[in-house]
Amino acid sequence: MYKVNVSDIEQDGIVNFKFNGDINELENCHIEAELEFKSMGDFIEASGHIYGNLNLECDRCLKKYIHKLDFEINEMFAKKALLEDYGAELELTDGQFITDLNGAEDIDVYDLLYQSVILALPNKKVCGINCNEGFFVSEQKLETHDTRMDIFKNIKIERK
Ligand SMILES: [Zn+2]
Repeated sequence: MYKVNVSDIEQDGIVNFKFNGDINELENCHIEAELEFKSMGDFIEASGHIYGNLNLECDRCLKKYIHKLDFEINEMFAKKALLEDYGAELELTDGQFITDLNGAEDIDVYDLLYQSVILALPNKKVCGINCNEGFFVSEQKLETHDTRMDIFKNIKIERK
């Protein structure tokens, strides 16, 4: 259903794709996306904007909260199986990924969106600033011991 045909992209040069729906693998994840698929020889560049929201669980207090999504994607697809010498020919910008289509006729847009959302999620999921403050002390304890910090060991902050 959410697929873009590779030969359509080759024919038209650019194919635009709009998505407005749920990513069922993620909790209450609803996104809208405007994508552009551009033919570039052996490659197809997918770029665009994704916004929406989903439910995440706070790492600290375990409460569910709504996380907003609003980010750009830029990904390359290689039509054939990636050869080693492709790497030398192709300059990739920071954070860009190459997905091997391996001769497939379609690009799975749903999967592209799903993977992009997963990659865009924060490493540390925190429900809000208040939660952040409340657990600041215990988080410090979890950090690995850094000898450069030893100088601060004997400093006590007195609350008045
Ligand atoms: Zn929290």
